[in-house]
Amino acid sequence: MTERLLPRTADVVIVGGGILGLSVAWHLTRTGTVRVVVIERQSLASQASSRAAALLTLGRADARFTRLVQRTFAAIEELGTILGEPLPLHRYGSLSVTTTAEGRSGLQALIDGATRAGVSCETVGAADARRLVPWLAVTEDATCAFCPDDAFIDPYLLASAYGTAARTAGATIVSGTAVTGLSVASGGVSGVSTTAGTIAAPVVVIAAGAWSNLVAASLGASVPMAPVRSQYWITLPDARFPRQHPSVLLPDARTYTRPELDALLFGIREANSVSLDPRQLPDDASGYAFADDPDGTASLEEGLPALRRHLPALDDVGIRAYLTGFSTYTPDGLPAFGAAAGVRGLMFAGGCSGAGIAISGGVGLALAELALGRVPSLAIDPFRCDRFGAVDPFDPAFRARCAAARSNKRSG
Ligand SMILES: Cc1cc2nc3c(=O)[nH]c(=O)nc-3n(C[C@H](O)[C@H](O)[C@H](O)COP(=O)(O)OP(=O)(O)OC[C@H]3O[C@@H](n4cnc5c(N)ncnc54)[C@H](O)[C@@H]3O)c2cc1C
Repeated sequence: MTERLLPRTADVVIVGGGILGLSVAWHLTRTGTVRVVVIERQSLASQASSRAAALLTLGRADARFTRLVQRTFAAIEELGTILGEPLPLHRYGSLSVTTTAEGRSGLQALIDGATRAGVSCETVGAADARRLVPWLAVTEDATCAFCPDDAFIDPYLLASAYGTAARTAGATIVSGTAVTGLSVASGGVSGVSTTAGTIAAPVVVIAAGAWSNLVAASLGASVPMAPVRSQYWITLPDARFPRQHPSVLLPDARTYTRPELDALLFGIREANSVSLDPRQLPDDASGYAFADDPDGTASLEEGLPALRRHLPALDDVGIRAYLTGFSTYTPDGLPAFGAAAGVRGLMFAGGCSGAGIAISGGVGLALAELALGRVPSLAIDPFRCDRFGAVDPFDPAFRARCAAARSNKRSG
């Protein structure tokens, strides 16, 4: 990318071409009147967004969270119409199973939140749970809930669809170019410097995933989140794992599963999740191996005893792949997006706490509305960036709170 090809001015510059940046860009272009530029350092959607298990889980304790996910489902439908081909959405529902008191109250909170948002999510008996997912061992004392509208999707396809629709509607999307600094004038952001030149803009949205706090640091601004390891495994193909089964959420085993072609994908949240100082991140995190457990063996050994009780097939099915990457978590496990405190025109999209694919539509819509100076049509107050007060996102104690949020997460 040469400097000549980069616009010198824009109405909104978005830093980061992952799923959030591309969703914000598309939602902005839906208005048809703004000049939007997305700057991506690597290739589009090559970082966290292409590594997600991409469960689109509607059942959340907070109905306002569910509404962010509902907007993603609406966006998927709209994008299919715009692009002339429906996006492949794997909609087989999700089944949650627990036998603990804590799990039961968590499940009830999810059902209540879903109900408030108008989403179908109901308790089912153990026999029905076994019928829905025959490979799952469900004891008679288990409490189970089935949410038929939950789905999963190829996250790269969805991110690319946001990007293609945005570009078709006039957005400039540049990859292989890094944002190296932010400029300010009169207390407000006034543009960005990049490796291919500068762009003047009154609004800058930082959607740089695990690197967001590095981009914002020069202005003394921060988003209350930290990069935390997320990981999953994929079994060898096995006839016991058909393609069209519900996803399964097992809060007692800190595990989620979903079909992956003819195999099973399962993610385990360790008791002590690992967060990284953003300053130690490589610019390209694809293929990153964590020093404490490079191939995931230790995490798998920690999680297997609890998981085997639900998934006896693990005794004799092999593991084909292990995949890890960074999710950005906040201390309360809710996303953090919207205006940055103290710098007019600066906004963040992040802190998705393992749900950035699921809420990409809601975050994109809300930030587009904020960037245009409109009142957001979704309730976003619980997700404000300043809700924890002043935080140092590089502080190990703060990062430990973010890591704990992942370990304590029980939803999809
Ligand atoms: C193993 C795993 C499983 C997951 N499972 C799920 C799931 O089931 N459901 C779900 O909803 N979510 C899931 N997630 C979370 C989801 O992947 C993230 O929430 C989402 O991808 C975040 O998108 P993003 O755009 O913020 O980040 P990213 O995709 O990381 O995009 C940020 C982009 O910013 C770019 N960038 C950084 N610095 C600069 C700079 N200075 N200049 C220009 N560009 C820059 C980066 O190169 C990157 O492409 C999972 C994540 C992982 C790792």
